[in-house]
Amino acid sequence: MGNQTYPDNQRPCRGRNNWYRWSYVTAVILLCSMACSGIVIAHEPEDDQRAIILLHTNDLHFNIKHAGTMQDKISRFRDQYADVFLFDAGDFTIRPTRWAQRNIVSNADAYEKRMQIMVRNMNELGYHAAVLGNHELGYYKTVTRDLLRQADFPFLGANVMVSTDYFDEPKAYLVFKADGGMRLAVLGLCGGGFDNAEGIRLANVSDTVYNHRKLHDESHAFVLLTHIGVQKDRMLADEYGDLIDVIIGGHSHTLLNPPEMRNGVLIAQAGHGYNEREYLGVIRLIFDDEKNLIEKQGEVLIFKHETHTTSRFLHVEAPEIQLQQDHAGDKE
Ligand SMILES: [Zn+2]
Repeated sequence: MGNQTYPDNQRPCRGRNNWYRWSYVTAVILLCSMACSGIVIAHEPEDDQRAIILLHTNDLHFNIKHAGTMQDKISRFRDQYADVFLFDAGDFTIRPTRWAQRNIVSNADAYEKRMQIMVRNMNELGYHAAVLGNHELGYYKTVTRDLLRQADFPFLGANVMVSTDYFDEPKAYLVFKADGGMRLAVLGLCGGGFDNAEGIRLANVSDTVYNHRKLHDESHAFVLLTHIGVQKDRMLADEYGDLIDVIIGGHSHTLLNPPEMRNGVLIAQAGHGYNEREYLGVIRLIFDDEKNLIEKQGEVLIFKHETHTTSRFLHVEAPEIQLQQDHAGDKE
């Protein structure tokens, strides 16, 4: 920030006007520095409270360019919090037909190679689960299925019905156990927009949530991991605010920073992964000593190459944060 110049400073000013001008400029610089460095005072959990951290990505589309930087960010949370879960909200691949259309690649070998690297990277980062995006559902022969089987983490999709041997049916939901006996239920919901996926059908997402409403009673936090786009996430929040605590979404490539609070539901989505920036969504859930969810907050860490960002939930000193609004309209 120190090298920034302001047109006003270039003109000679005198007396009180000059003092006021400098005070104003100093105040603006100070506020910008605080905002840009991510110095935000957040409520810290009391001794009798517990925190669960949910980290999330979406629409990586074969791109974890700076896996080392991503790993570093994730490790810092794992070092500081007992319960850290990492989820992907779908479309970590690019479907083969799309590649062919764009002439990015024209053969299955290249698709297979990229997919192998992607799954290996995700294994190394330690994902706990991913929901299937339309790009995964647009599978290629048995290649997609065989590579998904190499993942160390499960795939979710409660509304996916598979009637082919070319693709494995995903799990509907998972219940994770956290420190202190808390349970975190995660239900996966997939969206359409895939082709070349013979033998795969999708049920209505709203009906699917309703059919799994027991997860609300059987857990201390009920999370939807979706790949249906932010508009449908909002519809589900409007419809099921009394059941759902958090929706982690993908597909619309929307950067929600901070996440949206709608009808009591925290809706999060962390942009997409195919430009020079990397996005890591962070959600912190705080529970009281009776395991009631009493607070939920989120943010998206945005970083580039080896640039480090600070987090309001993490006590790490770092110089810089890239906070830019992304385009939220296009769908993949
Ligand atoms: Zn998608």
